Amino acid sequence: MKHLLGSSIKDLENVALNYGQAAFRGRQIYNWIYNYRNKNKDIDQIEILPLNFRKKLKNDGFKVSELSFQAKSLANDGTLKLLLSTSDNESIECVGIPTEKRLTACLSSQIGCPMDCKFCATGKEGLKRSLKASEILDQILFIENEMNRKVTNIVFMGMGEPLLNMDDLLLSIRSINEDFQISQRKITVSTVAIPKMINKLSANSFQILGKCQFTLAISLHASNQKIRELIIPSAKNYHIKNIVEDCKQFVRDTGRRVSFEYLMLSGVNDQLEHANELSDLLKGFQCHVNLIHYNQIEEVDFKRASLKKLQLFQSKLFHNGIAVSSRKSRGLDKNAACGQLRQNARN
Ligand code: SF4
Repeated sequence: MKHLLGSSIKDLENVALNYGQAAFRGRQIYNWIYNYRNKNKDIDQIEILPLNFRKKLKNDGFKVSELSFQAKSLANDGTLKLLLSTSDNESIECVGIPTEKRLTACLSSQIGCPMDCKFCATGKEGLKRSLKASEILDQILFIENEMNRKVTNIVFMGMGEPLLNMDDLLLSIRSINEDFQISQRKITVSTVAIPKMINKLSANSFQILGKCQFTLAISLHASNQKIRELIIPSAKNYHIKNIVEDCKQFVRDTGRRVSFEYLMLSGVNDQLEHANELSDLLKGFQCHVNLIHYNQIEEVDFKRASLKKLQLFQSKLFHNGIAVSSRKSRGLDKNAACGQLRQNARN
């Protein structure tokens, strides 16, 4: 199967030339895919192309993409969660998070996830496989078509660990930037942190994309190694201080500040001593801490820290000179934590 979604304008011109067509036929395909962003992605629907060209493409196994709609869940605040099926009958989730000015797409990079973070529904099921770039990009088209507006921002915070799918991650970032016309600065790649992969991400990005301007967000969730190992089993392979050192290098290499995600878990990491410890860990470097209200899930013992605790924690970080904000949970009433819609569809 050859997927056209994710192809550059040059790639599509070459497809047309290879079939004895003029290069502009490739540009017509490009326009149909990225500018119309059609809901129906069958090659037959590209009516501007000669019928025999469409037939040949189809006979030779070309498709625009191949995800299909399975289920959706709309929260009171407008957050839309979609469950999509892959051609091998697996399910993936993506989420559209609207505000007045933005539509943020939260994308999955893998089917399942091998990282087994203790607070996460996706981690419970292990990894099935990584997604192809076309499957990553197709999530954007589904969100746009369901929500009837264009996506403006991208976060790789859905199912999976993006740095374990580096090639297709970067292929999709190229296309998001150049074909979907979304600036790299509006893209966030969130990782639980894998040894050596932070350096590799910036190096490969410069090599393949010519720049590295997206935001790196580290799922830190702890102020010390002991707590981190308690909630993220893979943390034992990568000391929290080494993560911070590698992030400092990322800032030097790219000029982009790093964001640290911190889930506020009641009685685990939400005390003022943790705020002081976190401040010491992160002081003197270009970074930002994002405190997150935890969406509780049934199968897990962790509880959400109170709003009061979160506010005290935030103001302690602020007074310690750490740039900090807190993120409201969106779609809380509709199973918004990663992996939950997929689980519910099976039950
Ligand atoms: S939180 Fe992210 S990295 Fe951890 S198990 Fe869930 S999907 Fe994987």
